[in-house]
Amino acid sequence: AKSDRRGTYRFFEPEMDAQLQARRLLEADLRKALANDEFELYYQPQINIRRHEISGFEALLRWRHPERGMVSPAEFIPVAEDIGLIAPLGDWVLERACAEAANWPKDIKVAVNLSPVQFRNRALVESVDKALTRSGLSPSRLELEITESVLLQDNETTVATLHQLRELGVCVAMDDFGTGYSSLSYLRSFPFDKIKIDQSFVRELTSRADCLAIVHSITRLGASLGMITTAEGVETEEQYQQLRAAGCTEVQGYYFGRPQPARDLVFSLFVEERR
Ligand code: C2E
Ligand code: CA
Ligand code: CA
Ligand code: CA
Repeated sequence: AKSDRRGTYRFFEPEMDAQLQARRLLEADLRKALANDEFELYYQPQINIRRHEISGFEALLRWRHPERGMVSPAEFIPVAEDIGLIAPLGDWVLERACAEAANWPKDIKVAVNLSPVQFRNRALVESVDKALTRSGLSPSRLELEITESVLLQDNETTVATLHQLRELGVCVAMDDFGTGYSSLSYLRSFPFDKIKIDQSFVRELTSRADCLAIVHSITRLGASLGMITTAEGVETEEQYQQLRAAGCTEVQGYYFGRPQPARDLVFSLFVEERR
């Protein structure tokens, strides 16, 4: 990989700025990463508050770069989207998540993040169907998380695709709820199964009255629309208690468990019992 890297480097003009060079290197490394088996999925538990049980795990992509170590998905996913790699990478995530979840207890779901770019690809529904068939995972155990930006683009086609996905029997969650331009109007365009309350609201829940009020309204809104509400980024007991009092359905965050490789997962709520 070292000599490869030097070979790539030679093509740069000397005046090209360091940032652009770093970006080109990242692109080159990313193109090789799938074939080199450098990706892994970590899973973070989602806890049903009322039932005191783990209802599922969110799959979070990790890239173990041979020299840099772990690279954050916040850094490489936008690059993968730009250079046309998100379709094969997204397919890999779907296949792996379904295959791993097929070994879990039957009442535990897996949530997979989808990029808006995957929605521009006609083959998305086929990819999801294939991952389900090959793994034998029941469709009701797969949840797809999409952000509001998915609905920003060509709304009609996107909504049609969401309906096709729903027809496969999978669940659809709206991620990062409350951070977009018109979160409320998007709730009207598709009957989501779940709303994920963005971590930015949870972070200041106990210090800002407005955040608490917003979380209360989202929870009530979700309940009246028959949707599950999941609060993300829960890090403290105080936040958890506020969310429970607000009537939130599920919580997810470091307080209950960090994202972990499949082999380390525990399916019972030992965290709750220990407390
Ligand atoms: P996201 O979907 O909003 O995922 C939640 C992020 O919050 C994850 O970061 C998770 O590790 C982190 N997190 C969980 N609990 C806590 C907490 O208590 N406190 C704090 N501060 N953070 C917490 P991560 O794993 O770095 O992923 C970042 C983003 O990258 C994700 O945000 C998602 O948008 C994207 N991503 C991750 N995996 C995939 C994937 O397989 N496909 C696609 N398209 N996007 C992915
Ligand atoms: Ca997510
Ligand atoms: Ca989120
Ligand atoms: Ca996010």
